[in-house]
Amino acid sequence: MKFSPKSKEKKIRQKPGQILRNNWRMIRAVAKYIPQYPFLMILEGLIWGALNSASALFTIRLFNQLDDPKLQFGNIALTIGVMALFYLCAYIFDAWYWQYYNTTLFQKLQYNMQREMYEKALSVDLACYDDPEFYNDYVFAMDQARNKAWEVTENIGKIINRLIATAAVLGAMATISPAVAILLAVYAALNFILRNVSNKLSYKKTVEQKPMHRKNSYVNRQFHLADAAKELRISKVSTNLTSLYDDSVDEIVKSDIRYGKKLIWIDMAWSLLEVGGLMGILSLSLVQLVNGDIQMGGFAAAVTAMWNVSWTLSNLIERFQKFPEQSLYIEKYLKFLSWEPTIKSGDRIPDRFESLTFHNVSFAYPFGEQKTVLSNVNLTVRCGERIALVGYNGAGKTTLTKLLMRLYDPTEGEILYNGINIREFDLTAYRQKIGTVFQDFKIFAATIGENVMNGPYSDADRETVTKALQMATFGDKLNELPNGVDTQLTKEFCKEGVNLSGGESQKVAIARIFARKYELIVMDEPSSALDPMAEYQLNHSILDSANKDGRTVVFISHRLSTTRMADRIYMFANGSIIEEGSHDALMQLGGEYAEMFNLQAEKYRDKQTT
Ligand code: ADP
Repeated sequence: MKFSPKSKEKKIRQKPGQILRNNWRMIRAVAKYIPQYPFLMILEGLIWGALNSASALFTIRLFNQLDDPKLQFGNIALTIGVMALFYLCAYIFDAWYWQYYNTTLFQKLQYNMQREMYEKALSVDLACYDDPEFYNDYVFAMDQARNKAWEVTENIGKIINRLIATAAVLGAMATISPAVAILLAVYAALNFILRNVSNKLSYKKTVEQKPMHRKNSYVNRQFHLADAAKELRISKVSTNLTSLYDDSVDEIVKSDIRYGKKLIWIDMAWSLLEVGGLMGILSLSLVQLVNGDIQMGGFAAAVTAMWNVSWTLSNLIERFQKFPEQSLYIEKYLKFLSWEPTIKSGDRIPDRFESLTFHNVSFAYPFGEQKTVLSNVNLTVRCGERIALVGYNGAGKTTLTKLLMRLYDPTEGEILYNGINIREFDLTAYRQKIGTVFQDFKIFAATIGENVMNGPYSDADRETVTKALQMATFGDKLNELPNGVDTQLTKEFCKEGVNLSGGESQKVAIARIFARKYELIVMDEPSSALDPMAEYQLNHSILDSANKDGRTVVFISHRLSTTRMADRIYMFANGSIIEEGSHDALMQLGGEYAEMFNLQAEKYRDKQTT
């Protein structure tokens, strides 16, 4: 067994114009939700840029006053006082802005962006989930967009801040000593180049190691998620996982060494520049101080300016380097938001159900192998009928129910509801006519009542829900639960939550179709997790109640004992209907259905005799 979680990394190069455009588009998106947000970020950048440069100006003034032969303590105290007040106000503003104002704005931004994405997610075609590229982008957008929106605006504010600070420090130095300012500018330029090279290398290393870290995190997940706990204990699969982990760590170490050898040199060059720069600026300012070209304040400012510029530049480079990465995120987010569903809603409202017809329907899933899964299917379901779809795994039965619900549209042919193509109906109104239980139904972390209503639940629904659960043969279990229909399902949000067994969950899912007045019911293997006795009771209950209410039922079942209750059976093989008729007719025909039925009956008999 070879473990290979997908680790293909696409190298995506973006043009500078594209990077700028994407970042700009994100700022506009942010402004759409909170108009003042980008403006505030820029304002904050301006204020802090000014504050950072003020430190150089204060230092010059203070040292010049100290150096003055007519030393006046009153003036020095005033300078220190103003400086203290200035910084106190700045820090109070900063605390208010970041701890309170920005946080609340950011929450609002997050909320609005996320809600828009939820709306979009609902309209996305189910086919998109089959497309790994789209799915990755989609998960990415849902996961990252809000943080990236904040990062982009924050980044721009900080870049403005750093640019102003650097320009102000260099400008202040130029007025004191043009020679020191030039030396500082040369130091700044070299510093910028070295940091840029070093950051680029580190980024390359991160990208190179990403697939290895993904392998690590895959192994990590298998060891801490409950899903894999059983398999890990009963098999030797942990050996494969740990060797995958060992290999990836080995690769990471090799990559660290390879990059480390280059990064050492850059770091050494940078240290030389730091020491050389400091010594150079110190010596030059000292000479100028001794010659009387500058005062003590100028000398002190030159030293602080160097540290100041060094830090500001390194931060500036880091922030500039975030732009391309942010641009990629933004592109995915905007692509997701601009995605147009191919399953379009019509505007007709469907009448009471009378018939459903598949007319020459063929279908291939749009992604993957794109092989024909259904070919030339013709079938009709009339009001009040009980129709069974049977066949071996992979024959196309579930796909047919997905087409029926318009989760996908047929590649060829048409599906008619009361003689009208289902594409003409309003999508929500059409889907609301049909109650469906899928094989891979979902139980949500909510109360039983909410799960059965599959939406909002109020006390007025209590009786409906209880009745629906009884029809789905969940009545006995419901009586055991102290909180009845108010019982919280799953332990996701509360310790007292109940985890139902597979069969019990299936019953809750089935109760959904009884809780609403669906005219057509579609069930895909409704009782696959039940034992034969429970299955028999449940199927009887479903079909009886459907009969009483005049509902129509289409069900897929792998247990052919159930299909005896059907008015008509369609036998599927390789995406086509190969036999159709009542149970007796198909048994008489002696074809594939009869063979499958006899095989199952034999197995059942064998089990009973052993
Ligand atoms: P059945 O319900 O009869 O077991 P399905 O309708 O689930 O069969 O599957 C029919 C065929 O379609 C199978 O070959 C299956 O692998 C393929 N299939 C099912 N879902 C998808 C999908 N989302 N993308 C591509 N192929 C799929």
